[in-house]
Amino acid sequence: MKALLITGGLGFIGSNLLIYLLTKYPNYVLINLDKLTYAGSLNNVKDIVQHPRYKFIQGDICNRELVQYIFVEYDIRGVINLAAETHVDNSIKQPDVFLQTNVLGTFTLLDTAYKYWMVSPSNYKSSYENCMFHHISTDEVYGSLGETGAFSETTPYAPNSPYSASKASSDMVVRSYYHTYAMNTVITNCSNNYGPKQHDEKLIPTIIRNALLGSTIPIYGDGSNIRDWLHVNDHCEAIDLVFHCGKKGSTYNVGSDNEQTNLEIAQVICAILDEMSPKNISYSKLIEYVEDRAGHDKRYAVDASKIDNELGWSPNKEFEIGIRETVDWYLKYYKNKY
Ligand code: NAD
Repeated sequence: MKALLITGGLGFIGSNLLIYLLTKYPNYVLINLDKLTYAGSLNNVKDIVQHPRYKFIQGDICNRELVQYIFVEYDIRGVINLAAETHVDNSIKQPDVFLQTNVLGTFTLLDTAYKYWMVSPSNYKSSYENCMFHHISTDEVYGSLGETGAFSETTPYAPNSPYSASKASSDMVVRSYYHTYAMNTVITNCSNNYGPKQHDEKLIPTIIRNALLGSTIPIYGDGSNIRDWLHVNDHCEAIDLVFHCGKKGSTYNVGSDNEQTNLEIAQVICAILDEMSPKNISYSKLIEYVEDRAGHDKRYAVDASKIDNELGWSPNKEFEIGIRETVDWYLKYYKNKY
């Protein structure tokens, strides 16, 4: 048995990843360290809570004493760091906690791992040579694109929101631990994820929830901002591959060549809802433009050819299928909730 520390496992991607890893790897014990902020939910892991190889510890990744205790107690041999403050709108109103968790929390985890796994720079303790620190990051670190082009791993960082600035900073700290201490690190920079268990505050759950409640569906600005949408299970597969086979010290962009404007996303979802839960008028009549987000990045697009060429990853889930399954999931979820 080998213990991995998964942080942020009560959130959207972390909870999907925990189930994916528990199912695929019978020799892993997974320790989920999560602060259970407003964004996390115990409900997200209700199916694995009794699993003999799963353990939840409620706590903060900034708490060095707790993190050190976990490394020693469970003999942690790998870290996948997903814990973060993630909502751009919140980062505009209250940036402090983004810097705290995303930068200092990542540093605390990295530094604890370094001291637990290594004796000195380039010098691993015996049997710890293959321990890996995988930092989960975002395409938002690269800033905003014009009408053409896509972010590659060599695109200069140009974060525009306190959220993306905090993620960019954490990536830099991870980078420094590879270059200074030759610690085994990898970073993945992924595009927007969709799928089950995403927090209510995010775009897709908001569209579905408001539609079902008969409330207006708020779309920022003129709805033309573009994101590259990837199914969360495809992201989990990419994380699995990079964690196990990624080149040490590397970064990998993860995306699905599936650019959609926010308005297109709202329209697609309304059309699916019109079919699955019809009302006398189309849900699309509820779409309403609202004042744009401050500093709203115009377009993100990801060139994922490196992870494809080096590790053979490409997304499996067709957007048309994935979004229908996702709408179906939230339909059931919100019908139980309201
Ligand atoms: P989320 O907001 O759904 O979940 C974050 C989790 O982290 C929550 O369970 C929360 O309780 C926990 N957390 C927050 N602060 C903590 C702290 N100080 N200590 C311990 N736990 C803490 O986020 P998500 O969408 O699942 O994103 C996970 C990671 O993936 C983040 O690092 C995010 O930047 C990255 N990412 C997300 C997307 C996306 O589209 N959702 C895309 C690319 C990258």
